[in-house]
Amino acid sequence: MTPLFDTYTTELLDFLYTAEKQEKAIDTAVIEEVARLVAEAEKEELTGPIVALFSRLQQLRRQHGWSAQKLGIERSGLEALAAKHQELDEHLVSVGGRVGQALAIVDKANKRVDAYLEKKDREAASGIELWDKILANQERIRQRLGMDEEEWNSFSGQIRHAVSSVDELAELIDLPAAAAADISRVTKNYRMRLTPYYTSLIMPGTVNDPIMLQSIPTGEMVDNAGIEIPPVAADHSPARLVDQFYPRVVTIKSTNMCAMYCTHCLRIAHIGKKDKMFSKQAYGEALDYIRTNKRIRDVLITGGDAFVLPNSMLRWLLEQLDEIEHVRLKRLGTRVPVTVPMRIDDELLDILEESNDRKPVRVVTQINTAREITPVSKEAFKQISKRVFAVLNQAVLLRGINDSKVKMWKLCETIQEAYVRPYYIFNCSYRNPQFVHFRVPVEKGRDIVESMYGNIVGDAIPRYIATAGGKIPMHRSNVIGHEGSELILKKPWNGEEVRYPDADPALYNDDRFSFSRYVD
Ligand SMILES: *Cc1c(COP(=O)(O)O)cnc(C)c1O
Ligand code: SF4
Repeated sequence: MTPLFDTYTTELLDFLYTAEKQEKAIDTAVIEEVARLVAEAEKEELTGPIVALFSRLQQLRRQHGWSAQKLGIERSGLEALAAKHQELDEHLVSVGGRVGQALAIVDKANKRVDAYLEKKDREAASGIELWDKILANQERIRQRLGMDEEEWNSFSGQIRHAVSSVDELAELIDLPAAAAADISRVTKNYRMRLTPYYTSLIMPGTVNDPIMLQSIPTGEMVDNAGIEIPPVAADHSPARLVDQFYPRVVTIKSTNMCAMYCTHCLRIAHIGKKDKMFSKQAYGEALDYIRTNKRIRDVLITGGDAFVLPNSMLRWLLEQLDEIEHVRLKRLGTRVPVTVPMRIDDELLDILEESNDRKPVRVVTQINTAREITPVSKEAFKQISKRVFAVLNQAVLLRGINDSKVKMWKLCETIQEAYVRPYYIFNCSYRNPQFVHFRVPVEKGRDIVESMYGNIVGDAIPRYIATAGGKIPMHRSNVIGHEGSELILKKPWNGEEVRYPDADPALYNDDRFSFSRYVD
């Protein structure tokens, strides 16, 4: 009796048992090869050899027009193997489905990532891949700055030896003379400070190195036309240190200090003007505002950089927040794990865990290039991730740093491998003329973000956001039309259109739903 096959298998069998007219003579080596494949397929209780046999037969039929009959296999024998495959496979996948459909589909999909796989380690090398070079840089920088190993590995040592003058910088990295002169002009207005560790991530001889772009101010910052539009926060600060865009989330700008000053910082006018500790009264007023506003459930401690605060202050702030009944979650905003990962000490980790045990803590960081993930920053993130609910990344889409598919995909994959989840990609703000040169057109950003769907795992795909009085999602819609009750959807990864029947509105509005049908 002929077993029942699905259409894929029937089609494949029919194809294999029709021969083309102008078939070439079959050489004996091929007949022997096929006989061997048949023997293997028959021998073991495995699906692999059966798939290998059918794939080879399909290929020979396509390339030379040879039928399976001509190759010496009776149809009944092949049907028996197809039946065996179906019996073996736990999910009842037929050999026709696997060979005729699945393998071809996977093959086609693979091509979507081939260019990325080929380029990612060259065009967007991570700090892990470049670690040997970074270590050599570290050795050179450490000696030039007269730091011993212990100082290098401590937060205070990194801050004490932070690079803030152009002359010092020029001694540590390749800096063209013209650039050095220009930077001196800018640093009169904008502070520069690179930790020795962050400086070691710079690859000598690279024009527009992504680390340099983020940390060394260039002439454009003062030359760009336009005046700064006050940060949105300025019109959203209902209380001292507090910013509020949304009813249920507020930020406490807990310090104006950062370990490093970013060239693309939104708060460039306020951050790093002069390091200043804030008073307890200031925090007290912020906490009072939160205490009396019962709608607030999530509090973001930002800065500057929250991890620049002393441990004692962080502990106190978190304890204060945890005591407020309506505050249910906390976030800490910090770039320290990438600029000076040595700051992540055991005491800080304990503070995070203690607070997280009371109510969830998320650490929100900013990583803009895979280069910023090194074995050291990865270790810091790993330790943090063990103590808190989530570690999230808010990247900024920046020209030359991450404005290509390869660079952005690599960034998202690399941080995920470092225990950090991509959360947002911000379009670079229009409000600050200081960094208009970093701005990337929204359409380009959309191309980059949409290209991740279907190619990058879902929880490594960030949301693309423009900040304009709050965060506005910028993704393209993949609902491109509708016909009757069917929506027409577009697959972001290949543009293919699919129809998607929507829920039946009559059914949805029917009051007689499930258990309510039993009630009269
Ligand atoms: C970003 C931000 C938030 C948090 O927004 P989420 O979408 O919840 O991440 C809250 N308040 C201010 C002022 C912000 O800038
Ligand atoms: S870490 Fe954040 S707040 Fe600090 S300079 Fe960079 S972007 Fe600005």
